[in-house]
Amino acid sequence: MTDRTDNIIVAGRSGAGKQPRIDVLVKELGLTQLSTGNIFREFVGAFDSSGFKDDIGVFFDPVKGAFVPDRVIEAALRKALPGTKEMRPVVLGLKAKYFMNRGLFVPDSITNELFCEYFSRGSYRGQVLDGYPRTPEQAFFLLDLCRKQGTRLDLVVEVENDDELIVERTMGRRICKACGKVYHVKFKPSKDGKSCDKCGSPLIQRSDDTEERIRTRLREYYDKVVPALELLRENGVPMVKVPGNVEPFTEENVRRSVMDALAPYLK
Ligand SMILES: [Zn+2]
Repeated sequence: MTDRTDNIIVAGRSGAGKQPRIDVLVKELGLTQLSTGNIFREFVGAFDSSGFKDDIGVFFDPVKGAFVPDRVIEAALRKALPGTKEMRPVVLGLKAKYFMNRGLFVPDSITNELFCEYFSRGSYRGQVLDGYPRTPEQAFFLLDLCRKQGTRLDLVVEVENDDELIVERTMGRRICKACGKVYHVKFKPSKDGKSCDKCGSPLIQRSDDTEERIRTRLREYYDKVVPALELLRENGVPMVKVPGNVEPFTEENVRRSVMDALAPYLK
């Protein structure tokens, strides 16, 4: 990171405390957060709101295990949806939706396509990548993409935390149904323990926050994300670890722990 920062990847197990560290990078380095969750929301949302109701299975060739060419999908969509101006997001949403409708994981090739479209809007630089790459195949794609676009992956920031602490923190999480405010049964309870201090709505536990789901996500991290990060490191992307727990938890302490870890790379 000599003259400027191109891109930083923030990695860490779900529940490790990535967001406060991403906030620091956004604020201190003027980067933009690029989250895979938003990518899927946007493209799948574009497809859902397009009004296309026909069978999308016809665009997938099961023999080749691939979609028909984009121009074929686009032509069919244009015919059905004459009023749609931007067709590219609808096409990408359709591809993701095909797998989601069947309860299947969206394959890396499709995730890469969606990611690439999103990343291109920021000219492939100035971003904090969050939730990507998540597999070695995605990491390989990203390295290649940056090479072709002449941009850099400056650094991987891995937020460290203890697995058992992550389980405890995530299982105890309660969210306001109405306003989304986040509480914790032990560390940050609401006044009556049942409803939101701000708006009075009931607090719920996300269906993703059960112990089984949390442990599955932890396993996936070790099985897929760790090898992906290893691939980045082998290709010359430096990695720093930052603590996911700072005591006491204040904005300034989080900021300092992140910026101290980055200091050797910010010369
Ligand atoms: Zn609320």
